[in-house]
Amino acid sequence: MKAKKINKLQLSNDDLLRYNKHILLEEIQTDGLEILKQKHVAIIGLGGLGCPVAQYLSTSGVGKITLIDHDVVEETNLQRQILYTSEDLGLYKADVACKRLKILNPDINIEGYSVRFTNDSVSLMKDVDIIIDATDNFKSRSLINKISLLLKKPLVMGAAIKMQGQVAVFRNDLFDMPCYNCLYDDMEDEMSSCIDLGVLSTLTGTIGSLQATEAIKTLVGFGESLESKLLLVDLKHMSFRTVKITKDNKCKICN
Ligand SMILES: [Zn+2]
Repeated sequence: MKAKKINKLQLSNDDLLRYNKHILLEEIQTDGLEILKQKHVAIIGLGGLGCPVAQYLSTSGVGKITLIDHDVVEETNLQRQILYTSEDLGLYKADVACKRLKILNPDINIEGYSVRFTNDSVSLMKDVDIIIDATDNFKSRSLINKISLLLKKPLVMGAAIKMQGQVAVFRNDLFDMPCYNCLYDDMEDEMSSCIDLGVLSTLTGTIGSLQATEAIKTLVGFGESLESKLLLVDLKHMSFRTVKITKDNKCKICN
């Protein structure tokens, strides 16, 4: 996608320093930075995936970030959820993440919502430019896909279990594209959440970083993205494989 530039912003001297390494990239430059500063991203789930996604999108200068997660920080989270410390145990992840990210980049607008993601969450996402699914279960992913189709927003999905992960970009903002449900239909009972299984600490970091990468590329409009493609990552064997996702004409969600 070639993203349209909205407005010409006046970049400050601080911007030019903070984002210097992005400005030096031919694919981003000051134009790309201006685009990012005017974008709004929603991140659903602030666990192993959501932490690195939120950190990288914050440091990259995305103008507004909405964080949604109803959980509190638990001790078992600390091995991979790198926004939280031992002192945050029992506190809402959305509150802690919001506080940390504001320190990381005071320039951007960050809102945290300690609520469960439901159909009512639509109201929080009306003006977002892209939705990042960083949840850990099929039910949430399925609902996020539905809402992203309803609102016509692109969706970056990530999943991580044991030492294997997946990343895909669903262009639910465009006509006649495959959606998450075309790929995984009725898997509620088959897919376990990572509550029951082990997860390698660096796996969630890898997958989350890839999700943030795809979000930046989609927002700024450069490179070749994982649009309608599923990246399968296996860290145990260090293999990265991409398969094409085709539209299921019988999909009940996007047809
Ligand atoms: Zn579909």
